[in-house]
Amino acid sequence: MAAKRYLFTPGPTTVPPEVLAALAEPVVHHRGSDFRAVYQECLQRLKQIFRTSSEVLLFTASGTGAMESAVANLCSPGNRVVVVSAGSFGERWAQIAERYGCEVVPVRYEWGETPAADDLAAALRDTNGARAVFLTQSETSTGVVADVQALAAAARPSGAHVVVDAISSVGAVPLEVDAWGIDVACAGSQKALMTPPGLAMASVSDAVWAPEGRSSSPRYYFDWDRTRRAQEQLDSAFTPATSLVVALNVALGLILDAGLEQAFERHRLLGRACREGAKAMGLELFSPDDDSAAVVTAIKTPEGIDATELVSLLRDRYGVQLANGQAQLKGKVFRIGHIGYYDVFDIATALGAVELGLAELGADIERGVAVTKALDVFAEGAKV
Ligand SMILES: *Cc1c(COP(=O)(O)O)cnc(C)c1O
Repeated sequence: MAAKRYLFTPGPTTVPPEVLAALAEPVVHHRGSDFRAVYQECLQRLKQIFRTSSEVLLFTASGTGAMESAVANLCSPGNRVVVVSAGSFGERWAQIAERYGCEVVPVRYEWGETPAADDLAAALRDTNGARAVFLTQSETSTGVVADVQALAAAARPSGAHVVVDAISSVGAVPLEVDAWGIDVACAGSQKALMTPPGLAMASVSDAVWAPEGRSSSPRYYFDWDRTRRAQEQLDSAFTPATSLVVALNVALGLILDAGLEQAFERHRLLGRACREGAKAMGLELFSPDDDSAAVVTAIKTPEGIDATELVSLLRDRYGVQLANGQAQLKGKVFRIGHIGYYDVFDIATALGAVELGLAELGADIERGVAVTKALDVFAEGAKV
């Protein structure tokens, strides 16, 4: 028999049974009244999740589709844009903007560092007429969750549009699109929103809808005006992944029924339990050792152990899927995602598997302490 599968990556994530059941319902037509009702509810719930009164545009695409739509709709060739980057996903913003002919002014950090609002403010003071500032809330490649509220505040005096990649953070850590003055926030279905991959979202502020908010870059499928016009009539410009929309609506209902604040608290506690458990077995964290790191914990492998080997061993032998480091961190760190449909027993399973795997690879770690520590920390935190 094949090993039971555990999905402990920062996307895709495990999908709850209610959402899986919705995916098994018969396919409906996207212009029929039964779909429209679900579509309307889903779009409404997205506004609540993003904490915005503006329209949240929904695309059939992975999260990167929403990111590309932001660049295409906001930036014309030759526009100057500031990109804050401290990891793989910040670099993605820079690559997309370059592809669209923007002049990219980087505010670049070593991978794993936490961006500072002062650096952004200084870069904007030195940059004439920045069209947009691109930020990453949760840099999934390093585990750092940036202070997007402070960064957006630092960007405001410049008048540049503030665009945030919140793909792995929305639903896991606080994001206040309207209150923090975020013009565009991008998300994807397969992270903390507990739905399979395939849907992308972008909230778009009123400031961006003004005529001067438009770019001259070519676009068709990802044209925001077309998408908004269609959504306003509960129509969709193209055939959406209807089954995924039905599923996302169920997932968003689960999150909102339990309460967003409760979700944030649960993610904080899971992150803490994961970090303390990892440290207890003698491992060194790559991601920050504080409660901001509530999305994914990046852990360094002990001297002489290749993270690629560890991740393969755990997947092939035990069915436990963790994430390797990305790009320059590949083989050096492994990552445990703890977002969405995830609880402390998932942390225990992940840490238990890491312990077994590392011991098998000959690492000198202390066995039998990580799971106990994680459960202790969770129980302590759950009391208060
Ligand atoms: C997952 C992720 C993406 C990419 O999303 P895709 O759905 O793979 O296109 C972008 N940014 C961040 C921060 C992510 O975690």
